[in-house]
Amino acid sequence: MSGNRYDCIVIGGGAAGMMAAGTAASHGKKVLLLERNGRCGKKLSITGKGRCNVTNLCTDEDFFENIPVNARFLYSAYSRFSCTDCMDFFEGLGVPLKVERGSRVFPVSDKALDITVALEKYCINSGVNILHKKVTGIKTENGSVCGVFCGDESLLSDSVIIATGGISYPGTGSDGDGYRFAKELGHTVMPLKPSLVPLEAEENFCAEMMGLSLKNTGISLTDTKTGKVIYKDMGEMLFTHFGVSGPMILSASSHIRSMERGRYKIFIDLKPALDAPALDKRILRDFSEIPNRIFANSLTKLLPAKMIPVIIKLSGISPEKQVNSVTKQERTELVKLLKSFAVTIKGFRPISEAIITSGGVNINEVSPKTMESKLVKGLYFAGEILDVDAYTGGFNLQIAFSTGYAAGNNI
Ligand SMILES: Cc1cc2nc3c(=O)[nH]c(=O)nc-3n(C[C@H](O)[C@H](O)[C@H](O)COP(=O)(O)OP(=O)(O)OC[C@H]3O[C@@H](n4cnc5c(N)ncnc54)[C@H](O)[C@@H]3O)c2cc1C
Repeated sequence: MSGNRYDCIVIGGGAAGMMAAGTAASHGKKVLLLERNGRCGKKLSITGKGRCNVTNLCTDEDFFENIPVNARFLYSAYSRFSCTDCMDFFEGLGVPLKVERGSRVFPVSDKALDITVALEKYCINSGVNILHKKVTGIKTENGSVCGVFCGDESLLSDSVIIATGGISYPGTGSDGDGYRFAKELGHTVMPLKPSLVPLEAEENFCAEMMGLSLKNTGISLTDTKTGKVIYKDMGEMLFTHFGVSGPMILSASSHIRSMERGRYKIFIDLKPALDAPALDKRILRDFSEIPNRIFANSLTKLLPAKMIPVIIKLSGISPEKQVNSVTKQERTELVKLLKSFAVTIKGFRPISEAIITSGGVNINEVSPKTMESKLVKGLYFAGEILDVDAYTGGFNLQIAFSTGYAAGNNI
C-alpha cells in the first residue's frame, strides 16, 4: 500500500462527513477526511442559533412525518442510527444533552461548538487523518472510484464519500462542489431549491415595519389557488426590508413546494388569545376610555408602535376620526384586519440565505442501506447533498448523522 492510499476518503468535514469518517475509522479503516476550510464543522457550529438542535427525540413515525420528500429512502439508515442512538452517541462523547419544547434536543451547555469539537475529537481518536484541502475532482478507473484530486495532487482510495453539503450559506464552505462531482460521474442532481428560507412579500408595509418582531402570534399559510391552509403555527416572526422572516416563517417556507408569485398568502393573527367578539369588546373598551380621542392615537395599548401607522392605513378608517364616531361596521373590519393580517408572498429569498438546500443527488441512484452509488463502484453520498430534507426541529442534522453513519459503517 502506497503512503497516500486510503481505505476511504471523505470529502467534507461537516456533520455527515465527520460522522462517516469517524465511523469507518472506528472499524479499523485507514480514513482521510478532506475539509476545505481551516477547521471542520463551520456550519455545524452555527446551527440552532449557535446552540445546535442536534436531533429530535420523537417516535419513528414523527421523524418520517417531518421529512416531506423521500422519507422512505431513510428507513434503513435511520433504523441503524436513530435519534436515541444519536443522543447516546453524543452523551458517550461527553456532551450532556437536554430536550426542549417540540422534543428538540440541544447540548446542556447551549453551545453548538461542543458538538463540533466532540465530533472532531471522535474522528481524531478513531484514527482519521484530517487534511484541510479542497477537493477538485474524483478519480475513476473502469467505472470504479480510485481516488480524488486536490489540484495537481491525487490521493488514492477505492472508496470516496461525498459529504459536501448543499449550497446554502456558502460562506461555511458548502458551495455546491459535490453536485458537480456527482454530475461528472453520471448522477442526476434534482433541481436545487431553497428551503427553510425567509419570504419576500409584495406589500411595502413589511419594510415600514422592518425590525419588528412579533411573539405569540398565529400564522396560517394559505394556497389561494386551492383555498387550502397548508401550514398553521403559533410563535415568533419578524418583518424585514424584503418581507417576513423568523422561526415560524422559515418553517412555513418549507411547506411551499413550488413557488408561484402571488399564489401564497400568510394570514397573521395579531391577537390569537382573543376571538373576534372578545377583540371587538377590547377595542370598544380602549375607545371608551377617551371617547373624543382621534383614531390615529387610539391603538397604542393594542399594537406595537411600528405597526400602528400600517394598521391605520389598511383599516380604511380616517386617522382623524374621533373614536366615538367609529361605526360598528368599521370596527368589524378592523377586527378582521387584526385577526387576519394578510401578507402576499412574492418569492423565496435566495438559496444562499436558506437554512437548507432542497433537491440534490437523485436517491434512486443511491443504495438506501449503504449510501453507495448504484452507478459508480466505491462512490458514496451522505448528508445534505442527497435529495432529502426535513422541517426544522433537529431533523436535518439527524439525516446527516444517519446517512453519514450508514456510509461509514459500510466501508
Ligand atoms: C444557520 C443554520 C442553522 C441550522 N440549524 C440547524 C439545527 O439547529 N438543526 C438541524 O438539524 N439543522 C440545522 N441546519 C441545517 C444543517 O446545518 C445541515 O443540514 C447540515 O449541516 C448538513 O450537513 P452536511 O455534513 O451534509 O453538510 P455541511 O455541514 O454543509 O458540511 C459540508 C462540508 O463540506 C465541505 N466542503 C464542501 N466542498 C468541499 C470540497 N470541494 N473539498 C473539501 N471540502 C468541501 C464544506 O466546507 C463543509 O464543511 C442549519 C443550517 C444553517 C445554515
